[in-house]
Amino acid sequence: MKIKSLFFDLDETLYPFGNQVVYVLGERMNHFISEKLNISQNEVRGFRDHLYRTYGTTAKGLVVEYGVDLIDFLKYSHDIDTSGYISPMPELRKILDQIPLRKYIFTNADRFHATRVLKNLSIFDCFDGIIDVLDVFPDCKPSTKAFEKALWMTGTQSASECIFFDDYPQNVDAAHEMGFYAIQVGGRTSANFADSHIDRIEDMIHLELFKEFVL
Ligand SMILES: [Mg+2]
Repeated sequence: MKIKSLFFDLDETLYPFGNQVVYVLGERMNHFISEKLNISQNEVRGFRDHLYRTYGTTAKGLVVEYGVDLIDFLKYSHDIDTSGYISPMPELRKILDQIPLRKYIFTNADRFHATRVLKNLSIFDCFDGIIDVLDVFPDCKPSTKAFEKALWMTGTQSASECIFFDDYPQNVDAAHEMGFYAIQVGGRTSANFADSHIDRIEDMIHLELFKEFVL
């Protein structure tokens, strides 16, 4: 396998699982939905779970089922000062700098949130590009079309040239199915078809696979 590119999910993959920023993001989504669709705060969590399971992201469900303006939703829910939650990760930066492959962020969030988080982590300049939810709309991870668009956008010939990192099991399984070398990072539940599993993103450097890339 000749690996040329690495694709990284953002939230809870590059920074540790359970960070408060994800909770705050969820609360802002709940508030937006509750106001816009007139759903009580008690019901909104279950409603979001349903959209997430059916469409892969809350955003896609809101657009497809309820005609919500995607930009309005993304702007409102991601309007968070992430610097209060996310700190630089110098060890991760050192590892990324040692790997001379193309590196991309592939996220179901928007690029403004991704940019803020990457800057908070002090790794923004380690990446060759960001593929966000608007780039692949109306698809999103874990749909095959979203992965295909990400490959096309980055000029990547084949998934078999790529490693994909994500915490979310469905995304990991979909990537594996498409031929990526799929690595689950942390995660609430385990993916069924992960090629590898690591607890923290920094652990990638210890995988046998990485020995040949590291400078
Ligand atoms: Mg994630």
